[in-house]
Amino acid sequence: MDDQIICIGCGAVLQSDNVEEAGYLPAARLKQARESKDEDNDVYCQRCFRLRHYNEIMPVKADNDDFLKLLNSLAEKKALVVNVVDLFDFTNSLLSALKRFIGNNDFILVGNKFDLFPQNSRQSKIKDWMRQEANRMGLYPKKIFLVSAKNKKNLPELISYLDHNSRDQDVYFVGTTNVGKSTLLNAIIEQMGDIQNLITTSRFPGTTLDKIEIPLTNGHFLVDTPGILTKNQLATHLNTQELELISPQKQLKPVTFQLSPGNSLFLAGLGRVDYLKGKKASFTVYAARGLYIHRTKTENADSFYEKHIGELLSPPAKSDKLPLLKGQEYHTGSKSDLLFGGIGFITVPADCLVKIYTPGKIGLGIRRALI
Ligand code: GDP
Repeated sequence: MDDQIICIGCGAVLQSDNVEEAGYLPAARLKQARESKDEDNDVYCQRCFRLRHYNEIMPVKADNDDFLKLLNSLAEKKALVVNVVDLFDFTNSLLSALKRFIGNNDFILVGNKFDLFPQNSRQSKIKDWMRQEANRMGLYPKKIFLVSAKNKKNLPELISYLDHNSRDQDVYFVGTTNVGKSTLLNAIIEQMGDIQNLITTSRFPGTTLDKIEIPLTNGHFLVDTPGILTKNQLATHLNTQELELISPQKQLKPVTFQLSPGNSLFLAGLGRVDYLKGKKASFTVYAARGLYIHRTKTENADSFYEKHIGELLSPPAKSDKLPLLKGQEYHTGSKSDLLFGGIGFITVPADCLVKIYTPGKIGLGIRRALI
């Protein structure tokens, strides 16, 4: 197209088709920019505009090719890489591709949404689990932080670390979509008082990757990169309302069910656990408060699911293109958390044989109980 206009902030081609893609500008504004003959009329995409004027970062999705290009370029420079992960969808938001691309650079893991964990969760236990999972994927984070971007919890420690480590390099924030990377960057910008002035007065050097560089006083940058989508996240498959319903908003309150072998629980239509063998036991569910939990006999569970999926058992809606529930058996050697990535977890005692299900086994797993 010959009337392509480039955002002078991030370098993306301006478009008004998709608010979640790079370079978005509402149609009327884009039309105005196209018709404007004034060469000096700098045009920013909505995302850069908001960053400049309100210090607010809006999430942008990118395809994996763009993201891989960006990762490839990382190994060639000195950089500190910050992988922001969602503590409620940890394994799916950890970027296994990092290990191939960061070269000799250090990376740190920032586990976000810590505010949702119950009050009595031990930070050291959560960090140990994160480190083990990362190591299993061949990733060796230099440091692990637990933060809440929303409640601004534990941010000073993270900021002080970034400050210290950005003296001779830029800091790259990477993550899959929906982990809260934009919220976290906004919170950091807000707390790092002195960069606020810089943001509103400086231009962001453009790149075709739509990364946004936030200048620091030491001459280096915090670089925000597009969030990538992976098929292993429920967020990729559900619509905004459904995501809102399953995403816990407040600290999780446990709900306990006494189950005997032969009992099953459904977490709406997105999760299921069958209790196969063991003593009568407490199954404690940590999930969003509005999520529908249904208890039934295992022998009836398949027919119940077939009959009610997309209705009583929703989300998902009938129209969602989500794989059907698929399960895997686990035996709990010690008190364990059964993981339903993106939805929550169920704590069960030692010595239970269970089968747990998620759509196409997305986000399914087990860990030693954190609480
Ligand atoms: P991005 O796609 O990684 O940039 O994610 P966003 O910043 O857009 O956040 C995705 C969702 O997670 C939004 O609904 C946020 O409100 C929510 N969120 C972000 N940070 C936190 C947090 O610290 N705690 C909680 N509970 N929710 C958060």
